Amino acid sequence: MKITIIGTGYVGLVTGACLAELGNDVFCLDVDERKIAMLNAGGIPIHEPGLEEVVARNRAAGRLQFSTDIAASVAHGTLQFIAVGTPPDEDGSADLQYVLAAAKSIGRHMTEFKVIVDKSTVPVGTADRVKAAVQAELDARAEGAKFSVVSNPEFLKEGAAVEDFMRPDRIVIGCDSSAEGSRAHGLMKKLYMPFNRNHERTFWMDVRSAEFTKYAANAMLATRISFMNELANLADQVGADIEAVRHGIGSDPRIGHSFLYAGAGYGGSCFPKDVQALERTARQYDQDLLILRAVEAVNDKQKLVLGQKVAKRFGADLSGKHFAVWGLAFKPNTDDMREAPARVLLKQLLDGGATVAVYDPVAMAEAKRVLALDFDAEQLARVRFASSPMDTLTGAEALVIVTEWKAFRSPDFDRIKAALKQAVIFDGRNLFEPQVMAEAGFEYHGIGRSVLT
Ligand code: NAD
Repeated sequence: MKITIIGTGYVGLVTGACLAELGNDVFCLDVDERKIAMLNAGGIPIHEPGLEEVVARNRAAGRLQFSTDIAASVAHGTLQFIAVGTPPDEDGSADLQYVLAAAKSIGRHMTEFKVIVDKSTVPVGTADRVKAAVQAELDARAEGAKFSVVSNPEFLKEGAAVEDFMRPDRIVIGCDSSAEGSRAHGLMKKLYMPFNRNHERTFWMDVRSAEFTKYAANAMLATRISFMNELANLADQVGADIEAVRHGIGSDPRIGHSFLYAGAGYGGSCFPKDVQALERTARQYDQDLLILRAVEAVNDKQKLVLGQKVAKRFGADLSGKHFAVWGLAFKPNTDDMREAPARVLLKQLLDGGATVAVYDPVAMAEAKRVLALDFDAEQLARVRFASSPMDTLTGAEALVIVTEWKAFRSPDFDRIKAALKQAVIFDGRNLFEPQVMAEAGFEYHGIGRSVLT
């Protein structure tokens, strides 16, 4: 099938590459000329396991092209996926300017039937706004071409995006009941047929329910994290081990083991903004989502916990003190640093006057870019970008772990102890066992693990 993807970011690039892998003819559009030039030169603008190979293979096969040419992109696909960003507006609601700009550009150029697929995470009711934006452009040209707007939210996880896209838990598609809607239904069914061969994974629903489903999923996941973080802080107070508690409750199938990890707070481009956007939607309907307000407040507080533990141990004035930081990306297997807890920790350490040496397996270039935005020249001069985990340690008062990269899970503790000034570890992801760490001679601070024995 001929497909256009508008927006070649994490979601758009993965969607485009994976749909090409299935044999479709895919045209990826972006307004960012540098990104398109890089992709056309064989580069990949983001770190995502397996993506480079899929992109290279399908470019070589002529099934995947990258361009900034809007008219050509509209002409190309019967299916027009909108996968542009929906960042938070000043008041926390989703900023739809990019989605609506994409809709207008489709309306401005289309001359035949199109299915416009909202893949971006957009508030309930956005499909109607997309429809109105397209129709206004068609009316302005007295063009009578028909179209349908479909909601097909994306559930991929950064760091496992290709795998998630190719083997989805579910595919959610919302179509309306018009004649164009049923034509769109048929085309979407055909497009996703290869994913449904073993068993049916598609949930068909109305457009608003599909839009809502994406927010409900992210809000539920964020709720589980904040719930565990709040309990972890209490566990620290009462002398219980949140990891033991996690196992104890997760074995109940009604609860399950996933997404029950206490830590340094959630970040990334989705949970923070989607929780906020759902709250804003509710407020427009005079409803206060009390649980989600608490989820957000707990997470904001949780991002401060690691730095507070450091300050409790070493004092509020950290000048003259040096710290090693492992992990900068908001989670492993990505270079994404949007809303990353590491940025909050670094602010606390640098505001306290400390110097830091930081390391992340893939997010170093992105870290240099975002930290230059977060800090002034004097503070930046107190950050050293190290070449390996071990390279961060020399002369540090303590090691602080913020991201649970696999490469940090079994380090050489003797070398760590020898390099650190004091054998102190603050573990924001509970990678290690307090007992084992104590036996190895470390003073260990996890999240919710201050067990009284
Ligand atoms: P991103 O910022 O990585 O990519 C968006 C891209 O759209 C950018 O390259 C930008 O230049 C481009 N763009 C903006 N306006 C454009 C226009 N008018 N025409 C063409 N290109 C345009 O964003 P992302 O992380 O891929 O997220 C996209 C959407 O998918 C968001 O709504 C997000 O909430 C949702 N989503 C993201 C993830 C994730 O893990 N990143 C997962 C599921 C859903």
